[in-house]
Amino acid sequence: MSKIGIIGGGIVGLSSAYYLQKAGHQVTLIDQSDLNDGCSLGNAGMIVPSHLVPLAAPGMIAKGIRWMFNSKSPFYVKPRINADLLKWGYLFYKNSTKEHVDHAAVALKELSLLSKSLYQEMAKELPFDFGFHERGLLMLYQTKETEHEEHETAEMANAHGIEAKILSADEVQKLEPDVKVNVRGGVYFPGDAHITPQDLYRQLIAHLKTQGVAFKPKTTVSDFEIADGKIKAIITDKEKLAFDEVILATGSWSGLVARKLSLNLPMQAGKGYSFTLPEVEKNIRIPSIFLEARVAVTPMGKSLRFGGTMEINGVDHSINMNRVKGIVESIPHYYPEMKVSLPQKEAVWHGLRPCSPDGLPYIGRTKKISNLILATGHSMLGISLAPGTGKLIAQTVNGDNLSMNVTRFDPERFA
Ligand SMILES: Cc1cc2nc3c(=O)[nH]c(=O)nc-3n(C[C@H](O)[C@H](O)[C@H](O)COP(=O)(O)OP(=O)(O)OC[C@H]3O[C@@H](n4cnc5c(N)ncnc54)[C@H](O)[C@@H]3O)c2cc1C
Repeated sequence: MSKIGIIGGGIVGLSSAYYLQKAGHQVTLIDQSDLNDGCSLGNAGMIVPSHLVPLAAPGMIAKGIRWMFNSKSPFYVKPRINADLLKWGYLFYKNSTKEHVDHAAVALKELSLLSKSLYQEMAKELPFDFGFHERGLLMLYQTKETEHEEHETAEMANAHGIEAKILSADEVQKLEPDVKVNVRGGVYFPGDAHITPQDLYRQLIAHLKTQGVAFKPKTTVSDFEIADGKIKAIITDKEKLAFDEVILATGSWSGLVARKLSLNLPMQAGKGYSFTLPEVEKNIRIPSIFLEARVAVTPMGKSLRFGGTMEINGVDHSINMNRVKGIVESIPHYYPEMKVSLPQKEAVWHGLRPCSPDGLPYIGRTKKISNLILATGHSMLGISLAPGTGKLIAQTVNGDNLSMNVTRFDPERFA
């Protein structure tokens, strides 16, 4: 049994705590927040093995530049002279190739499928319901151009063994009998699933407490004591703590924390917004993505959550209501009979996606510091990939064979 310190209590830190505690370790989880808000709660909750293409892909930069000039668009990079952002942008550009997508797709698929099977296990084993449903995902499009792109994605998914079905507008409508849908067509991925993320998050914390995991909320890790290539102590704003192994799961803050360890970990926060209609009389049945608007829509019980936008603007918590307006205005285009008004600013949730420049997470040990393991950078897929990541972290600590090859996730690939 080892003494493990996990820095960061988002879904990735919690999943790591879950599998490490199960493996018999003594786990302490430290977080600067009160563990009641953050990127892992208000997201769209989709578990999407269908998402094989990382953010860094051909065509993304051209699309991004077009979107930058529209204040309601789903993507925005705040122009600023910042060395970290410039380096991140350069690495993003270098990785936006077909070759990168081909390699990344294999790694993302494996981690996604591992995670989905672990969600199936968790849904059976955990003593609470977290809204896990396997109803698939509908990708909805309205234009010929998007239809062409999405059909290519479907073809790629099928070639990778991920089932994708091309549907006509009528076939989409048959899957959603309660809500009028206005589309040119859609692609259905029957193997995808979804959860209610805040239900998993809050109940998993309560469960881990009963299992003996120690939580230190409102505790900020500010520095480290390093000697002989090992972390001897974690320095927080409250106390100094010593562990055998340290897991860094600090999401969008990871680049800043890694700097204290003299590690180069390119990371940008990708801010997104969501709002939730608490009770919808005629709800959709299958989580869906409005492709042209880049809006994710997820039914969670009687409620319905809309989420979207990606603003690369540093660790910034301001809410840009213009982009929320962009999400609201997209709804009647796809669901013409659904009346949704602009929510109050206070009702808009935001989260910071931890974005690596190649769209792949950082998972595994570093060579520089022997008792440090990274688990971060999951970008748009943190919910989808968290259980698999947690399992891999526990296997790494135990020195067990890993469930998959993690070479693509090497935390020192940009060192
Ligand atoms: C609008 C939106 C929709 C999304 N939809 C989906 C979806 O449908 N499916 C999907 O798979 N993913 C989705 N995501 C992405 C997903 O939410 C993230 O990838 C995931 O939550 C990241 O989890 P994390 O644990 O890595 O980071 P976080 O949840 O951000 O956790 C990191 C934690 O580290 C703590 N921390 C940081 N620095 C320190 C420090 N110095 N000391 C102590 N603590 C520290 C922070 O307080 C934080 O709690 C969505 C995101 C957004 C914004």
